[in-house]
Amino acid sequence: MTAVSEQTKLDVTRMRVVVLNASFELKAVVEVPRAVGYLFTGKAESLVDRDAAPLRSAGGLTMPIPCVVRLIRYVRLPMSARVPAWTRSGLMRRDGHTCAYCGGRGQTVDHLVPVSRGGRSSWLNTVAACGRCNGRKADRTPEEAGMPLRYRPNEPTMRAAVLFTLSAVERDALAGLGLSVAA
Ligand SMILES: [Zn+2]
Repeated sequence: MTAVSEQTKLDVTRMRVVVLNASFELKAVVEVPRAVGYLFTGKAESLVDRDAAPLRSAGGLTMPIPCVVRLIRYVRLPMSARVPAWTRSGLMRRDGHTCAYCGGRGQTVDHLVPVSRGGRSSWLNTVAACGRCNGRKADRTPEEAGMPLRYRPNEPTMRAAVLFTLSAVERDALAGLGLSVAA
């Protein structure tokens, strides 16, 4: 949909849309234009609309901004998409902003195998850590530093990863549909 007015574009750029599979399972969070494309091509139906000014096309058509849409046909996830991409914010949510070493507030990303030694930013190689523990561990593995982990890092499911990204409004919308928002 290319006819969205500039004014509306400014308003919706930060809004996202929760996409449910036909089975009502959480599938993804996408930007508004993509979700509107699904609706216009009949690939999805809107379940919950945003309480915001509607989208307005140059031709004068209006459409509520969707909040939660559901795909009409079930889409199977490809194998490559079974493990969600690593993100810093997703990691912080996974670890509950808790330092893996001292249990304090963890706001930095610690690489178990340090980046300087080829460690990657992956779900299994990163944990949340406080600045103090991160600095103390430095360029060593937890074993080398004598700093045992309080929890083992795991790979989140796609469902958990999508839940990590939801705002309170989006969680409420799903709860309003009777869907669980527990990871
Ligand atoms: Zn700490």
